[in-house]
Parts: sequence; structure tokens; C-alpha cells
Amino acid sequence: MSHDVTYAFATRLVGLGRPVREAGAPAGPGIELSSTYVAGDGPTYGRYTNRTWESLEQVLGDLEGGRALAFGSGMAAVAACLELTPQGGTVVLPRHVYNGTTSLVDELAAAGRLVARRVDPTDTEAVIAALDGADVVWLESPTNPMLEVSDLPTLVAAARARGVLSVVDNTFNTPLLARPLQDGADVVLHSVTKFLAGHSDVVLGALVTGDEPLHTRLHTHRTLHGAIPGPHEAWLALRGMRTLHLRLERACANAAELADRLSGHPSVARVRYPGFGAIVCIELAGGRAAAEHVEESVRLWLPATSLGGVESMLERRRRHPAEPVSVPEELVRLSVGIEDVEDLWRDLDGALRA
Ligand code: PLP
Repeated sequence: MSHDVTYAFATRLVGLGRPVREAGAPAGPGIELSSTYVAGDGPTYGRYTNRTWESLEQVLGDLEGGRALAFGSGMAAVAACLELTPQGGTVVLPRHVYNGTTSLVDELAAAGRLVARRVDPTDTEAVIAALDGADVVWLESPTNPMLEVSDLPTLVAAARARGVLSVVDNTFNTPLLARPLQDGADVVLHSVTKFLAGHSDVVLGALVTGDEPLHTRLHTHRTLHGAIPGPHEAWLALRGMRTLHLRLERACANAAELADRLSGHPSVARVRYPGFGAIVCIELAGGRAAAEHVEESVRLWLPATSLGGVESMLERRRRHPAEPVSVPEELVRLSVGIEDVEDLWRDLDGALRA
């Protein structure tokens, strides 16, 4: 399939990133296992490029509306973006974001590499006020795990007007639910590990930008830091992405139904659900012990960290010491998968009542 933006997302997800259509060509890309290439025109060395990564990058770049670069993990992509901060520069970020990002920002701040300015991402005026004199604004909407939602178009426009580089972690949304580059964001980040790959069998990251000099800087970072994915991982992620639209549609429908039922549940004090996406968080009326009990009692839901797989998972987030203390002890994050919703409900309801 040739690049054609008149095709819908579903068609582009399925058709892009395939070998040139000619007699005898394979239907899909192979796993290119080569550390080096015959000298001349074309690829030179396996740390600079790889045709399996390129297939994945073609699909993701098309969907986000920019040029994509695959990284060895979501955190490798986070590190590459933070490196865009000038020495001693200021990064504005939500008080709750993915705790790996928080921890890395804290480490860099402690080392004097950057200054972190934390904000309430739902308070648009406060975020805009914090942009003065800043170099980078980091946005994640909804945030992990508090599911706080920001006004992304307003914030990226404000950042652009002030010359502040905006990075949006779009892991929870995927380009099917949000396309921050279209709002004017400079860089979009993905933990491809999650919904994009979708099968809990690969760790991979990606960055997408519409800005050519930025793409070059990020590519140079990936090459010189060796933050590259394995070809096998890239292939698995691309294979997973072929069904993203179907998986996400089902997972989101399941999540909406469960959020609705949970809001009337006697064991649940609060449901956090932004009204879209496949992540729902609940706060247990019985506190931390009740949350731990749910983790131990479920039989179908997988008690595990991570999210975005076909299988439903749940986790009490504060079991991680890196999670900020402002995240309630009794908060359980549900990553809703694509199973039968009645089976998911029976298992969860049983664990909540046990
Ligand atoms: N961003 C978000 C929102 C995440 O949830 C995660 C991982 O959970 C990451 C980034 C880091 O990605 P990875 O685990 O692929 O390194």
C-alpha cells in the first residue's frame, strides 16, 4: 500500500510498512538480523538503522503525523527527550506522571542537570504561568496513574508561543485517541510496550516529531547512546499494531462498561475514569488492605504491573516505592483488556466483595 492519507486509520495500520509490492515479494517485512551492511549506497551499520525498525516507524509516523524513531524502551525515549533540555534548564511537568519519568527527572535534578517545576496539569492557568522561563514542558494526559486530564491544545499552543519545547507522552491514548502533533506539540512519546504492541511480549519505545532538525537530534542521540530496539522486538510491535484499532475499540468499550458498574459498587469509594481510554482507577473503601486483597483474589485479571495488553491487568500502584505519596495507598489501576466483559466483571466483583 502506498502512503495515502485518504485511507482511514484502520486501513493505514494494516497496510503501511510493508515491502514494495512486486512479484515474489513477501507480504510483510522480515526480521532483519544484521549488524552491518555491504558498503556503498544504503544502510551501513545496525546501530544507525534497520529495515524492520523502519517499517514500524513508517506506520507510527504516519498515524501521529510526523517522523517516528523506535527506541529500545519507552524510558530510552524519555531519556532522549530530557536530553533536549539545555544544561541547567527548566522542565515543567505534572505532579503525577509515569513514575519512571518522575524518577529520572529527580535524578537529573539532583545532579544539577536540570530544574524540575511540578504543576497540577488540570490547572491550565497554573501550567501556563509555570512556562515562563522554562525550556521544556512535559505533558501526559491522562496521567499515570491519577488519570488527570490536561487541556493539551491550549498548553502546547502556550508553550509554542513562549518558545518552550513540548513533549507529550501519548502512551495511554495512542494516535487513535489523541494526536498531539496536530495540536502543535513538538515531540510525541510512546511506550510502544503498552497499547501499540499490545500483547505484553515486548519492551519498546518511540518518539515522533514533525520537526526535521529535532528528528536529526533525536536520531543522533539514539545512535550515540545506543538506545536502539532489537529487530525482533520491532517486528513484534509492528505485528501487534496491525490490530490496534480492533483491540482498542474493544478495550475502551469494556473499560466504559466496567467504570459505570464500579461507580455503584459498595466496596469502591471512588472511580477515576476520564470518559475515554482503557485505563480505569479505583480507590477501595476498605483502604490499602482491601486493595491488596483484590490483587490476591482475582483469578482472571492478571495482578501485574504494565498496561495496554490484550489481557486485563490490575495493580495497587503504591506497591512501587517510586510512586509519589500523593497517589492514594488504596488506588488500584485497571488496564482493561479485550476479554468478555461479563467474565471480567464477575471476577472483579467477586474479588471486591471477598
Ligand atoms: N510512559 C508511560 C505513560 C508509561 O506507562 C511507561 C511504562 O509504564 C513508560 C513511559 C515507560 O515505558 P517502558 O516501560 O516501555 O520503558
